[in-house]
Amino acid sequence: MHKLTKAPLVLNGLGRCLLAEKHLSAVNIRRGFACAEHKRDSGSNEVYDVIISGGGMVGSAMACSLGMEPNLEGKKILLLEAGHKKSMDKVPDTYSTRVSSISPGSATLLSGIGAWEHIMKMRCKPYTRLQVWDACSDALITFDKEDLLDEMAYIVENDIVVAAITKQLDALSDNVHVKYKSKVVKYTWPLLHHTADSIPWVQVTLANGETHQTKLLIGADGPNSMVRQKLGIPTVKWNYDQSAVVAVLHLSEPTENNVAWQRFLPTGPIAMLPLSDTKSSLVWSTSPQLAEELLELDEESFVDAINSAFWSNENHSDLIETAGSVFRGTLSAIMPSAGSPRQLPPSVAGIDPKSRVMFPLAMGHAAEYVKHRVALIGDAAHRVHPLAGQGVNLGFGDVACLTQKLSQAAFNGKDLGAIQHLLEFETERQRHNLPMMAAVDLMKRLYSTDAAPVVLLRTFGLQATNMLPALKEQIMEYASK
Ligand SMILES: Cc1cc2nc3c(=O)[nH]c(=O)nc-3n(C[C@H](O)[C@H](O)[C@H](O)COP(=O)(O)OP(=O)(O)OC[C@H]3O[C@@H](n4cnc5c(N)ncnc54)[C@H](O)[C@@H]3O)c2cc1C
Repeated sequence: MHKLTKAPLVLNGLGRCLLAEKHLSAVNIRRGFACAEHKRDSGSNEVYDVIISGGGMVGSAMACSLGMEPNLEGKKILLLEAGHKKSMDKVPDTYSTRVSSISPGSATLLSGIGAWEHIMKMRCKPYTRLQVWDACSDALITFDKEDLLDEMAYIVENDIVVAAITKQLDALSDNVHVKYKSKVVKYTWPLLHHTADSIPWVQVTLANGETHQTKLLIGADGPNSMVRQKLGIPTVKWNYDQSAVVAVLHLSEPTENNVAWQRFLPTGPIAMLPLSDTKSSLVWSTSPQLAEELLELDEESFVDAINSAFWSNENHSDLIETAGSVFRGTLSAIMPSAGSPRQLPPSVAGIDPKSRVMFPLAMGHAAEYVKHRVALIGDAAHRVHPLAGQGVNLGFGDVACLTQKLSQAAFNGKDLGAIQHLLEFETERQRHNLPMMAAVDLMKRLYSTDAAPVVLLRTFGLQATNMLPALKEQIMEYASK
């Protein structure tokens, strides 16, 4: 049997990622591996060890990670995706509007499953600094890697992430079977104490009538997860009454473009994320009404609106400015660090035609991530506002954690669908995800107002934090996982 082995997951930085990829490629060559289409005959009602429902970035990474885990060798894994296969023979000339800021921790996961090398060969833009500032005051905070040589994170198009993982999945066709255009329409849950005539496994029914059974179902079917809904798992959720307008921006002139910029306007944050020396990606979260208006504007007015959102001081007030500068002066006298200097964002000259689209934003968290023979991962379990660029990174964290728990269970000869190790996964991930989600939600609320007392409070908080390198280091460390 041809099998890829998993590269060590203890990597950081591009150099080490490359090493891991080389290790993987060498294993493939040694084993005479040939990329193959998924040709397994898919007889109905086959029993799989694991079925993953949903092949977005998170579900695909899950399938690949399990398929390459040495302790799970020989296990049968099925990935079901409602959409078509997203492979990429050639990187398109135009950038996709859907991009993600991929943290070093996620890059390590993707490196371990061999996808990172493909991403770097396709298209990916590292950045070394993040500048966040308030439109209602002079307060700002910058995060950067000490020597500006290390990457803080990477901007990657979502389609490229999926295509890179798909390439690896193609190479795992012995034990990971992938079915595209395969929408699950029904789940049948096993009874906890099953009888002679009941099915002990989870059964999935596809739109074409096919059925499959599994010892463990992993729901990676996104924010409107059918797995979560059909299990009746209570979910805390609210709409932010905000939509994100995204677009591919053309900069006025070429720059090194290694900074991610985010400005908090009273209507929501606007972010410019680097794609290349001349292009950046826009994520402008605002009221649904303003978002509609932005979509309707002609290109020139849209570009003016973006530049004004980054540069205009129309929301400043004399009171806040005076109080802020007195506070900053006092802090500089007593604190060793003056904080990083303010930089100016590049100005925008145009956009890619047809790149302007809008997404509604919401927050959601499943009260439980696991049930008997079922686990939820990615947006199916938790959905956050994009302002901190954490959504898919939390999902990749789920993948790393669940892989480790299932690997351990297999090593100990346990049933993969047993609740004990699934609960360990849930506890570990909720301990990480919940504080992150609460912090993102608080930030969203704190910055959604121009009321003077709140602006003063956040101005003082941001300025003080900017002068505390140790605290900033801790924030970066937490966000990079
Ligand atoms: C504007 C915007 C900007 C963002 N920026 C960032 C960022 O910078 N960094 C970051 O970390 N995150 C970011 N996010 C969040 C990130 O995009 C999501 O967290 C991520 O896409 C979730 O991936 P997923 O695989 O869990 O879910 P999804 O991407 O929703 O994938 C779910 C998959 O399941 C399939 N599916 C659904 N139902 C079925 C079914 N019944 N049968 C079979 N298949 C099914 C779907 O076809 C889909 O492919 C952003 C989000 C938005 C809206």
